[in-house]
Parts: sequence; structure tokens; C-alpha cells
Amino acid sequence: MLAPSPAGFRRLWPLLKPHGRRLIAGGLCMLTYVACWPLLAWLAGRLIPAIGAGDFPAVLRAVAAALGVFLVQKTAQFGQDTLLAGPALQVSQELRRRLFARLQQLDFGALEKLSAGDLTYRLTEDADRVGEVIYKTIQDSTPSALQLVVVLGYMIWLDWPLALATLLLAPLVAVLVSAFGARVMQAAERSQKQVSDLAALLGEAIGGLPLVRAYAAEPWLQQRFDTEIDLHRRARYRTLTLLAKQHPVVGFIEAFGILAVLLIGAARIQAGGLDSQGFSSYVAALLMLIDPISHLTTNFNEFQQGQASLRRLRAIEAEPIEPPDRPEAQSLGAVQGELVLDGVSFGYDAAQPVLHDLNLHIQPGQVVALVGPSGAGKSTMFSLLLRFNTAQRGRVLLDGQDLADLRARELRRAVALVPQQSSVFSGTVAEAIAFGRPASPEQIRAAAIQANAAGFIEALPGGYESRIEERGSNFSGGQLQRLAIARAVLGNPAVLLLDEATSALDAEAEEAVQRGLDQAMAGRTVLVIAHRLSTVQEADRILVLEHGHIVEQGNHAELMARGGRYRDLCERQFIQMAG
Ligand code: ADP
Repeated sequence: MLAPSPAGFRRLWPLLKPHGRRLIAGGLCMLTYVACWPLLAWLAGRLIPAIGAGDFPAVLRAVAAALGVFLVQKTAQFGQDTLLAGPALQVSQELRRRLFARLQQLDFGALEKLSAGDLTYRLTEDADRVGEVIYKTIQDSTPSALQLVVVLGYMIWLDWPLALATLLLAPLVAVLVSAFGARVMQAAERSQKQVSDLAALLGEAIGGLPLVRAYAAEPWLQQRFDTEIDLHRRARYRTLTLLAKQHPVVGFIEAFGILAVLLIGAARIQAGGLDSQGFSSYVAALLMLIDPISHLTTNFNEFQQGQASLRRLRAIEAEPIEPPDRPEAQSLGAVQGELVLDGVSFGYDAAQPVLHDLNLHIQPGQVVALVGPSGAGKSTMFSLLLRFNTAQRGRVLLDGQDLADLRARELRRAVALVPQQSSVFSGTVAEAIAFGRPASPEQIRAAAIQANAAGFIEALPGGYESRIEERGSNFSGGQLQRLAIARAVLGNPAVLLLDEATSALDAEAEEAVQRGLDQAMAGRTVLVIAHRLSTVQEADRILVLEHGHIVEQGNHAELMARGGRYRDLCERQFIQMAG
């Protein structure tokens, strides 16, 4: 029952270290609590014969002493429970904190493999279950195990031959009881099937009643139904008779165990190994074993479930994380925004390249539109520029410095992403724009002005302190897009990666977003995954990507004149959108 703490949980021990003093104080309370049990058993040994002998003063003395012991014991239990609850909960909090921190560092590939729902389940349900096991182990299993050992020790000390006999009998009783229980369970499961058969027939019959009536098949269906309910009754009867057998059989086995102990006890008294006081204490102690055994059994089952949960949590730790910055990583100074792709090849799976030998030179302040069919590799290019992924061949350079040699956090301050889905976190408008970066109200306002968002924000009753509900449900799509633009420009990035939203806004909202974008793009290097004709028309350069190759580049007029892939795309994709 007391399986040695498996490696998974043992590795949580270090988390308890900072709580040493509370644990020691709680442990002392626990020892006091446990030590009271044999004392109470001993007092029972005084009390029961005194009651039998009608020795009232002796009864009073024993009762008073027992009251005193109970008082001490319950006080110690209170101390134990309150002192240990804190550390137990803090361990599970720390576990959750570390997992979440890990989650934030996970490699994007690993993150995609684990679904959002699955991860949520792990960090809530699984973490709860592990927390519960930690709590129960400290708070319940440990005192129960101690109680078992101490009370058993007391029984052995009272009379070891009787204790030995009990120890041999107890497992026998347990095995018989559980073997019988297992048979009953099996039979009950079998007859459960009959119940579901009945439900299935009913489902079919009720749906088909008009058909049955149309064919005058009522007697036939009634006959089928009668057979089914007869089977159902028999199955239920089998279960009930089994249960009817279980109760007396289990009761008899248990009674047999108790009577056997009494018999052996009587024999020991005859043999002079034990007196009646000792025997009363022994029986009282025996009763004190029932609770801890049942607690340990229940906790053991939870413990096993907890282990499965812990394994799922540990699996997150086994996932690869984003490679850390190189030790010699360089600081980015003021960034101009020159981007170079130098023979870049990349595949999520190295054997299957998604981008092939891309060469590209973007001057600071240029606006480059990426177009091409879905799956061509446009988002993948963004992920390389943000260093979410690293090219297997070639280099990506920002102002002449290889991205791989930069500090990721600095790089991501200089290169800001405006994603297609303008997701904002709940909180205030100011918080959504600052997004964890230190920013003064003036800086936040300046960003909002650039994004053409200041107007609507300042018209809100709460201004910049207005609440954004979860998933921004109390803001319009156009407003959320402008908030996302403000968030991007707040850190004054030199490079803007823009994934144009595809969902259509009404003309007015569209214009407001476009104005925000135009202002945000001014003076910055911009790469935009373009979905609007106006965006590509105004871009300095258009790159047409297909299957990870740049198949055409130039500006709108040049590419239209060439009459190649771009013109095709334009005619198929943009024209109707522009219309
Ligand atoms: P686009 O943005 O042009 O639609 P993507 O860059 O998203 O194209 O995708 C390029 C190719 O890479 C596609 O074949 C896509 O299936 C694949 N791909 C994209 N993301 C991943 C990923 N995380 N893991 C594996 N393959 C991916």
C-alpha cells in the first residue's frame, strides 16, 4: 500500500525545501497527534474492565484522562493541518508556475503539436490532481502511515504472538473480501449491458412508432419489447442476488476475522501472555487501524491517478524549448531596418524545405508586399524574421547582423508583428497597448494616435482605462485592429511585419484602419502579407512567392506589364476583392 514514492513525485521534494520550518513545526504536531493513539488504546484498556467491574472512580479517572488526551490530540491535528496546508499548496502553485513559464518558452513546433485544449487540461485538471496528491500525501497519508506503524508497534508490544496472528489473518480477510467483490463487479457489468440493450431498443421503437403502426406491426414490436424487458429483469435479478450474497458473505468473513482475534486473544489470556486490560487495549488499537488503512487505500488510488497526471505534466518539460541566445549574442544598437535574406532555406521538417534558397535585400523604409497562394511560405518568412524558427541554410540579417547572433528579446523589440487575427488580451486599453512593456501614458497615447485609435479610445467613458473583455468582445473588429497596430508601434520598431486581415470590414472602418496602418508604416521597413489590391499597388516592391520560391518581383506596374504569375493572381484574387 505504501509504495515507495515513485521518481516523479520524489523529484518534487526540492520544492518543499523553502518551507522547512513550517514542515518541522507541522511534523511535530503530527507526531503528537499520532502518539496519542496508543495512549488512548491504553486508556481504553483501563476503562473497559473498570466499567465491567463497576469501579466508578476508576471509570471517571480514565474518562477524564481520555478527554485530556483527545483535547491534546485534536489541538495537534489542527496545528498539523494548518501548518502543512500552506507548504502543500505552495508546492502545487510552484509546479504550475514553472510549467507555465516552460510553456512560454516552448518551441513553436512543440506548441503546435500539443493542442490548446490539451494544454489547458494539463495545466488545470492535471495540475489540480497532482496538487491534491501532494496535499493528501503530506496531510493525510503521512499521518495515516505513521498511525499504522505506531499502533501496530503498540499491538506488538502488548502481545506479539497475538499481533502476529492478526497480521496473518488481516490480509487473508482482505483478499477474500476483494476477490468476492471483483466477481460481483464483473457480474454487475455484464448485466449492465442488458440495461443498455433495452435503452437501444426503446430508442429505435419510439422513432419507428409511425412505421410500426403503418405496417400494423404492433404485436411484433410488443413481443420484442416483452422479451427484452424479461432479459432486463433477469439481469437485474442476477445482480441483486449477487449483492444479496455479497453482504452476508463479506460480513461473515469479517466477523470470522474478528472472532478469530477474540479466540486467539482468549487463548493468550489463558496462556498468561496477556491480561484483560491488555486485551481491551489491543482490541481498541485494532479498531484504530481501520481508519488509516481506508485512508491509505483511497489515497493510493488517487496517487496512481496523480502519477498519470504528473507524467502528462512532465511531458511538457520534455518538449523542446526555444534555443537560448548564444552566449556571445550581441546587443542591437539603433536599428535602421535593413533586411537581408542570404541564401535562406528552411523546412519545419529539415527533409522537406518550405523556403528554397531565398535571396532578398530590403532597404530601410521600404514597403514590401508578399503575395502568393496559401501555403507558399509567407508566414514562414515572418517566423524566420522573428526568429521563431531558424533557417537550416543561409542567413537572415538585420542591419548586417545575423539574427542568430542577436538577443531574441531585443530582436523582437525591433521587429513588431501585427497578426492577422487582432487578438488582444483582456485588461484595460492602456494595458493592451503597453502589453507588458514599461510605457508612460504619453507614450501609449502617442502610439494610439499613430494607429488612428486615439479618437475612439478617448471617446470611451473610461478612456485608456476602459476594460477590454475577453477576446475583445466589447470592441469592433476595426477598433481591435487599430489597437493591435498601436501595440506594434509602441516600442517604435524599425521593422513592421504585417499580416493583413482578410475579414472584410465596412468601408468606414476599413478606411480608419488603413489610415492607422499608413501612419504606422511611415518611416519603417514593412513586410506585408497582402490581401488588398491597394496595399500591393502602393508597395515599393512586390514579391510573388510560390512553393517557397520567389517567382517574380517588382512593383505593381512592372509586374502587370509582364503578364506573369502576378497578373494572374491579381485578376483572380484582388480584382473581386477590390470591387
Ligand atoms: P502561407 O503563409 O504562404 O500560407 P505558410 O508559411 O503558412 O504559407 O506555410 C508554408 C508551408 O509550410 C505549408 O506547406 C505549410 O503546410 C507548412 N507549415 C506551416 N507551418 C508549419 C508548421 N508549424 N509545421 C509544419 N509545417 C508547417
